[in-house]
Amino acid sequence: AALRELLLSRITDVPDHPQPGVVFKDITPLLADPVAFGALTDAFVDLCARHRVDKVVGLEARGFILAAPVAVRAAVGFVPVRKAGKLPGETLGQTYELEYGSAEIELHVDALAPGDRVLVIDDVLATGGTAEASLQLIRRAGAEVAGVAVLLELGFLAGRQRLEPGLKGAPLEAL
Ligand code: IMP
Repeated sequence: AALRELLLSRITDVPDHPQPGVVFKDITPLLADPVAFGALTDAFVDLCARHRVDKVVGLEARGFILAAPVAVRAAVGFVPVRKAGKLPGETLGQTYELEYGSAEIELHVDALAPGDRVLVIDDVLATGGTAEASLQLIRRAGAEVAGVAVLLELGFLAGRQRLEPGLKGAPLEAL
């Protein structure tokens, strides 16, 4: 409960970003506070231990920032999932539906080993589309989904419900 209060106190609301009517959750104050960022990192590291994680996947772009220190402290590999066209090697791609249109994310085809237990890390779970697509990539790469961990879950967008089938019993942890 103390962790939750600390984290929430370092996330601010930015009205009408990136478009009118959207309230954007800005985590940059949290990143700028080493006590809060450290506590968040420790909490993700605990999840890695509890779920016997071999690799963390960070979702571009804020997921990279959060997952990288977790990988170092938990002594597991860091693997990026990027927007289409950014990764240099051979990739697996997954498209997913947005409110208007669609998006595609990619994973290096050899980034995960068969049987790797993978934790997906991102800052915000909104509609769940990005996380859901990342789970499909992880399974197509032959690895196992250990769970999804986010800093913040926007409950009113029902991402948890969208993600549920793809989790196949793996946990969704919102810190
Ligand atoms: P989803 O696919 O709708 O769940 O959107 C999640 C993705 O969009 C994540 O990678 C987030 O970083 C980003 N996102 C959505 N809403 C916010 C927000 O309010 N603050 C920060 N990132 C957000």
